[in-house]
Amino acid sequence: MGQKGRRHFLVAGLALGSTWIAGPSLAELLPSSRARRVVIVGGGWGGLTAARHLRLMAPELEIVLIERSPTFRSLPLSNKWLVGLGQESGRGHDYATIARSHGYLLVRADATVIDRELRRVITEKGSIDYDWLILAVGIRYDYAAWFGDDHQAAKYARRSYPAGFIADELDLLKQKLLDFKGGNFVMTIPPSPYRCPPAPYERAMMVAWWFKQKNIKGKVVIVDPGPGMQVFNSVFADRYEKQIVHLTHAKVTAVDPFRKIIATEFDDLRFDDGMLMPAQQAGDLVWQAGLVERGSDGEPSGWAALDPVRLHAIDDERVFLIGDLAGKVSSLFGHYPKSGHLANQLGKIVAKEIAGRAHGKLPEPQLPESVCHVYTDVAPMERVRIDANYRFRGDGVISQSVRQVVDPQPRGEDVDWASSMYADFLAQG
Ligand SMILES: Cc1cc2nc3c(=O)[nH]c(=O)nc-3n(C[C@H](O)[C@H](O)[C@H](O)COP(=O)(O)OP(=O)(O)OC[C@H]3O[C@@H](n4cnc5c(N)ncnc54)[C@H](O)[C@@H]3O)c2cc1C
Repeated sequence: MGQKGRRHFLVAGLALGSTWIAGPSLAELLPSSRARRVVIVGGGWGGLTAARHLRLMAPELEIVLIERSPTFRSLPLSNKWLVGLGQESGRGHDYATIARSHGYLLVRADATVIDRELRRVITEKGSIDYDWLILAVGIRYDYAAWFGDDHQAAKYARRSYPAGFIADELDLLKQKLLDFKGGNFVMTIPPSPYRCPPAPYERAMMVAWWFKQKNIKGKVVIVDPGPGMQVFNSVFADRYEKQIVHLTHAKVTAVDPFRKIIATEFDDLRFDDGMLMPAQQAGDLVWQAGLVERGSDGEPSGWAALDPVRLHAIDDERVFLIGDLAGKVSSLFGHYPKSGHLANQLGKIVAKEIAGRAHGKLPEPQLPESVCHVYTDVAPMERVRIDANYRFRGDGVISQSVRQVVDPQPRGEDVDWASSMYADFLAQG
């Protein structure tokens, strides 16, 4: 069978869960191939983009995407969807269809171990060897500051008061709002850095608007370790005075999810329901692979250590790290914003890096950009666009410039932006 025919057979076979997939032993998942193989773990904004663009830039490589979920769901636009404004985040995009549309292989599995010596990814279904590996596994929650080693409490908190920064929690979150009858609805803002910094403020505003609309006698209580975001602070104070209590500089010191009490440095707070948003870190696999950056004190920062320009692991040029899991890239501003737009840009850059290596020529270094559309009010609609641009300073350090523009008359620019992103990495046609 020719290379092309074999590739299509694999897509269909693996995606449909055909029985020739290796069983529980760690046998080879894929038949050995003469083509060099790129394995991508994580089919979110970064991983899907990298898979599609690598396929275009280096058709001779075998591209394998490992993803644990059956469908892709969008976190961008999800705050609107939670309160009935828009459909997109309710929709799941089938991974098998996406992979087939772009002609790369899909393995639906949970990757559990990266063996960098052997260049092998181990999943619960078997193992896959790689020539290059892209880790794009996003984030995990870090409940340690609240619960220490008490995994029961962390599990209970996540199930009962989901943070909503990971797409598989979206339905639970929506149900929570539909069921809420009144009282204190608490939202803890995570310490920085975290995924999409304006997102929890936008969500708080949307929930407050929802309470107002539905005449729910509830208050959104925001427990915020910092000063808040200026653009939201005035909206909360001026327009949602009755619905929002914003406690700034209030660091959470302990949480009792069973008795529904949050302790801050100042006070204890009882709540009726809410979204408990803990600190965030790079996903599990980054830790397992020993790729977490450490500070000068030797303590892990929680995020992946990477070459800020070429995006590979510091001591391993076979492993690339993209998306929200990335650690510091600049001594001037620290992390790139953890946004879908930026993950998409890094996906394209990493595709060029690997295609270049496969073709024996490193590409010119390229830097990403970030665009973020955030609603600051619903009635009337008001939106802010935040753009971040990057360039090399004379000494090679990456510098950042951020521009924020308020738009009092939005006309669906966020939906247009999302459509253009999806056209880049979801199924075509
Ligand atoms: C409420 C909200 C609103 C947002 N709005 C915006 C916005 O307007 N604009 C914007 O640009 N960004 C926005 N974001 C941020 C955006 O969603 C993230 O930055 C983006 O999802 C990061 O992409 P990623 O590829 O790093 O991770 P993800 O998109 O999280 O993808 C990671 C993938 O890896 C898979 N995975 C993880 N571990 C494994 C494993 N071991 N084995 C197999 N698969 C695995 C996961 O299932 C997941 O599919 C928002 C986020 C939130 C929470």
